[in-house]
Amino acid sequence: MSDGVVETRASEVSGGETQTVDVAVVGAGFAGLYLLHRLRKAGFSTVALDTANDVGGTWYWNRYPGARCDIQTVDYSYTFDPELEKAWQWSEKYATQPEILRYLGFVADRYDLRRDIRFGTRVLGASWDDAKERWLLTTDKGPAVSCRHYIMATGCLSQPKPPEIDGVHDFKGEIYFTSRWPHDGVDLRGKRVAVIGTGSSGIQSIPIIAEQAAQLTVFQRTPNFALPAHNGPLPADRAAQLAEDRNGLREQARWSMAGVPIPPATDFSWALSEAERRERFEKLWASGDLVGMLTQLWADQGVDPDGNALLADLIREKIHEIVKDPETAAALTPHDHPFGAKRPCLDTNYYQTFNRPNVTLVNLRQEPITSITADGIKTDRRSFDIDVIVFATGFDAMTGAIRAVHPITGRGGKSLEDVWANGPQTYLGLTVADFPNLFLITGPGSPSVLSNMAVSIEQHVDWVVDRLVALREAGFTTIEATETAQAGWARHMADCATVTLHRLANTWYTGANVPGKPQTLMPYTGGVGPYRGICNEIVSRGMLGFKLSGPNGASQCNDGEIVRLQPDVRLVLNMLAEMNLPPIESMGAAGAREFVAQFNATRPPGRPVGEVKDGTLQGADGPLPYRLYRPATPGPHPIVVYFHGGGWVLGDEQSDDPFCRDMCRRSNMIFVSVGYRHAPEHRFPAAAEDGYAATRWVAEHAAELGGRDGPVLVAGWSAGGNIAAVTCQLARDRGGPLVGGQLLVCPVTDCSFDRPSYTDNAAGYFLTRGLMYWFWDIYCSPADRTDPRASPLRGKLQGLPPAYIVTCEFDPLRDEGVAYAEALAANGVPVGQLKAHGHFHSSFTMVDVVITGVGGRMQMAEALQAFTQSAEEGESQEINAAAS
Ligand code: NAP
Repeated sequence: MSDGVVETRASEVSGGETQTVDVAVVGAGFAGLYLLHRLRKAGFSTVALDTANDVGGTWYWNRYPGARCDIQTVDYSYTFDPELEKAWQWSEKYATQPEILRYLGFVADRYDLRRDIRFGTRVLGASWDDAKERWLLTTDKGPAVSCRHYIMATGCLSQPKPPEIDGVHDFKGEIYFTSRWPHDGVDLRGKRVAVIGTGSSGIQSIPIIAEQAAQLTVFQRTPNFALPAHNGPLPADRAAQLAEDRNGLREQARWSMAGVPIPPATDFSWALSEAERRERFEKLWASGDLVGMLTQLWADQGVDPDGNALLADLIREKIHEIVKDPETAAALTPHDHPFGAKRPCLDTNYYQTFNRPNVTLVNLRQEPITSITADGIKTDRRSFDIDVIVFATGFDAMTGAIRAVHPITGRGGKSLEDVWANGPQTYLGLTVADFPNLFLITGPGSPSVLSNMAVSIEQHVDWVVDRLVALREAGFTTIEATETAQAGWARHMADCATVTLHRLANTWYTGANVPGKPQTLMPYTGGVGPYRGICNEIVSRGMLGFKLSGPNGASQCNDGEIVRLQPDVRLVLNMLAEMNLPPIESMGAAGAREFVAQFNATRPPGRPVGEVKDGTLQGADGPLPYRLYRPATPGPHPIVVYFHGGGWVLGDEQSDDPFCRDMCRRSNMIFVSVGYRHAPEHRFPAAAEDGYAATRWVAEHAAELGGRDGPVLVAGWSAGGNIAAVTCQLARDRGGPLVGGQLLVCPVTDCSFDRPSYTDNAAGYFLTRGLMYWFWDIYCSPADRTDPRASPLRGKLQGLPPAYIVTCEFDPLRDEGVAYAEALAANGVPVGQLKAHGHFHSSFTMVDVVITGVGGRMQMAEALQAFTQSAEEGESQEINAAAS
């Protein structure tokens, strides 16, 4: 058997009558084959349909020279059968397309799958029959198919994108698409070849085409990041790991972020020296590991533009080292997107190829193609005589194969085309509301292309087949996502996307490569392991978000949203739950302080600022420590007096260090974090009075501290928010100092515990109702609690400085924060509010752990800047008024 040729023994079905099965599958690639195997084992009658003439899916079609896997192939394999794993050995770290195709053929033969596959058959239409509760598929060959369940295993990158260049049909030479490469190969010897496109397909094929062609001209629109594959035998350490604990590694991959068993980096770029960063980079560059380079250098490379730029610069340096002609090197160097925001490539001699005398790079950003002519390609500057054009122009990804295959009509005649007119809507990327019994394997909304597809496919197939079995056992015949669940998933997808840098790139992940396609980030960015956990949780919570129905009116609908928390908040809370910590209030004040100190020691270090300086200021009853954070920019700067959180019992001037650093950087202001006195040693009103005294002291010493003229600002989190709010009231009533604005983050404002947020979020979100009771009891006797210095909501609210109040959805203190904002506004105080959805009490102070808090902190910094600006404007108005 030659490479790429796999024995065909397809199922024979005659035309005419309808073929009736339990489940129909479209696609006989990685997903379709495993589906057939699992469905058959579960006792479902099944047929798979594929336009190809054999198994293989993407590996059947993409036979271009140089086509290879770019995830280590031992990871890009089925893991469902240990015997299969023993029976197949990969010959290289990154297997070639023919070898992968042989593997899929081997799998098809081993499990005798071909007998249920109708090759060379295109599905022309699929419509749901509500009365029969079946899908009817029409096909271009053989009988129609009637099935209870319809599963699209059509792949994410199987619908080639048209080249969108004028004159293609005028070309007299040969035209090939990498995605539809002829099975017998193409003889390029002695020919003038053009390759259009420099994504993974172009980058893999260009070095080999350059070796064959007389002349190769590469037409590049956007340079891409490529890393050397350093292909060869499987590295010895990986082989040893697999030999030692194959199952452990497989399990690790299933619960990882990308579906590959390597732990992501935990060090932040700013905690590493330049030499350390370079050393890590060189090691990965030499190892040839794409997922490694995407995840293992430093923790902020994929979420923070600055951390990413450090890595991108190192790759750019490499390109300039390899490519001899500086102009070509510059043209090949990507500058328009962060590394990883667009799919990076793994190459073999890609950049070196541009040192060959027979290779020319045409930078389409400088000279766009105007047309293809009979003899070649014209740009707006010159003409190229060409014999062969290779389009490596990519795919209408993720939705293309589903939408283009045929019209799909669901319940009530609803067309999928219409439902997806503004972008794909799914629940989990697996199902679509109003399309009962339809499943998409690795569909839009699932980790899919941002993961090791083999791992994601197995997870999807297992989940779907297990659901079908459970459905059958429970006597139900239909399963369908609810609108609520689907809308909730869209919101969760959007929340996840804010953490990543994908928004900063034009890519096929978002549909930007296809003119007119609605743009939305299609793959799920929350990670393979978290996604798997969510799918499992849906089952354990009684098929949350699904309607099930059966004969005689049997039905079940457990409506709701599976994830309402921000993705990283969910991870943090799950991690805390797994730690099974005793309640903080059971530790006593000393024990709780010890716990907080230990907890803080494990968090990522704060980012660098211009200067961090400790000092002592005068509190209400003696000296207090403070820590000052100064921006790196030239001063003087506005000053913010900051009060840390901790329920008036815990914490100190250093305990909100990462938050102070972050806010100092973002606002470009000095933060003075005050070590006010704590209960039980110093009960109410010690903390409040210290807050006021410290603010007065800072205002009086502003110039010495490097502060700008003008009012100081106050800010605080939690109990610190309470102290900041109280300080503003005391400053108004006691003749100063002048406070220009108050930033209150999840503040305590009142001693009433009957607002809904106290009940809704009483437990499970770290700050519990029980803990708040404990804090209040330690700080303040019941008789004192209504004093405005403890409950500022009960004080006089007129004439206070402008406020910005942040509340979090899953926080017992949410409603009293909102109440304070509303009460201030009602009393004529300018108030801005941020009601942070999906966040918990600690979200904004867990800098670099809760990345989704970045947007909120940006808004807080803007609010602080606006306070200063309006104070300055107010001052200049006063001066003008005095002058006139
Ligand atoms: P791609 O990444 O979308 O790249 C298409 C290339 O064609 C881009 O450089 C694009 O430029 C260019 N292009 C598209 N239309 C053009 C036009 N009208 N004029 C000029 N240039 C045009 O497609 P791909 O290379 O086929 O790869 C798609 C995905 O398949 C990969 O990202 C990867 O996930 C997968 N893949 C994987 C492997 C593997 O190693 N396992 C191999 C191949 C593909 P712009 O960037 O400016 O749009």
